[in-house]
Amino acid sequence: MLLPAISAMDQEADLVDQFGRHISYLRVSVTEHCNFRCEYCSPEEGTPYFDRDDHLRVEEYDRLIGLFGHLGMRHIRFTGGEPLIYPHLLSLIESAKRHGIGKISVSTNGLLLGRLAQKLRSAGVNNLNISMDSLQADTFATITRGGDLRRVQEGIEEAVKVGIPRIKINVVLLRQHNGAELPALVDYAIGKGVDIRFIETMPLGVAGSEAQDEQYLSAEGARQRIGEHYPLEPAEAQVDHGPARLFRVPGTQTHVGFITPISDNFCVTCNRVRLTAGGRLVYCLGQEAGIDLLPLLRGGGGDEHIAEAVRMGIWHDKPQKHFFVSDPGRSARIFMMRLGG
Ligand code: SAM
Repeated sequence: MLLPAISAMDQEADLVDQFGRHISYLRVSVTEHCNFRCEYCSPEEGTPYFDRDDHLRVEEYDRLIGLFGHLGMRHIRFTGGEPLIYPHLLSLIESAKRHGIGKISVSTNGLLLGRLAQKLRSAGVNNLNISMDSLQADTFATITRGGDLRRVQEGIEEAVKVGIPRIKINVVLLRQHNGAELPALVDYAIGKGVDIRFIETMPLGVAGSEAQDEQYLSAEGARQRIGEHYPLEPAEAQVDHGPARLFRVPGTQTHVGFITPISDNFCVTCNRVRLTAGGRLVYCLGQEAGIDLLPLLRGGGGDEHIAEAVRMGIWHDKPQKHFFVSDPGRSARIFMMRLGG
């Protein structure tokens, strides 16, 4: 198939895969490193450092963001590792805005949010996801292997105060750690006027596989537990156009979402791909299929050449679905921190 040259593409040009899914959402990992070591995500010692030269440079990110904007990406989420430790994050957010990306999101563990929230808002962030799996300081420290809950909560308060438009708290469902405090987490979100989403533990990497074996709690089980305390009404509109099944808590501004990668596969609506900090474009969270863009960037490949490689790669190689349930061993080789969660 011959693809149009990038100069001939307009902003409406779409990336499509062979299953007819339109890809308009790019997750950009700006670092593999994190200042937490969550039990379900990371080995205790963290991930090995890779050579600086193997990491995308800020001008390479900028070029790729522009190119993906041309290829029809409407939404970019900056993630990691922990994106707030990356020194050029604000400049990349501004670059995404400059390249016409309409929706800009950041996922963070919140530790550094207190001093960065205003800057994120000024740079143009529309959506902020903050991970917080427990309201108990000691449980939180156990899950994150030493994380300081108070600082995360100060970060959430600052993000609310500076008026970041949409704030969501992300909670990974961990039966033993937080199974008993799900209604309290909803209560916290209501008190702050933010949304909250509960995510089933995925068998990603050794850490994720072990956590899934020991801690799995289905989203439906979580919904029932929360439903005993709060009446949950299905939301009229799926406000975040993501995979979450959304509910409203009547009389509040809070949406409660449930993400069901294990119990109710939603790959048929997948609209996303991921760019790792090493410059690999990965087509599915649960598999290794993808294309290394770094050699193309550094080998003098023009935008047209790279765009063609991306369009062909997504068309031919984006997998139909993940294998978290049918073949969990496959995703155990994958590092969420490396891939960009
Ligand atoms: N450091 C940022 C943060 O904490 O949000 C961004 C990266 S983190 C990998 C992104 C999200 O992935 C977090 O909400 C985290 O809880 C979630 N996550 C990591 N490993 C997971 C797993 N095995 N199953 C489900 N969610 C996971």
